[in-house]
Amino acid sequence: MPKILHYQDDCIGCGSCPLYAPNYWELNDSLGKAVLKKGQLKGKTHVQAIIEEDVEENVDAAVHCPVSCIHVVDDSGKELS
Ligand code: SF4
Repeated sequence: MPKILHYQDDCIGCGSCPLYAPNYWELNDSLGKAVLKKGQLKGKTHVQAIIEEDVEENVDAAVHCPVSCIHVVDDSGKELS
């Protein structure tokens, strides 16, 4: 299953990603950063699996992230964004 990887330390809280994939992303006002709604922290990276039909909107979120802290990868770890 594809996954989103979020390097939250680098997030500047611009608010773009929830506009592209609102079912996956929200802004946390107290952190001043985006969070993956069902992300799990692995090391310093938040990870959330995504179904195939939601890949495109999350790739859009990734390519529009101004600090490139969102990555979407397939089963093999190949970058889709
Ligand atoms: S688009 Fe990038 S910088 Fe902006 S809130 Fe989302 S993760 Fe953070």
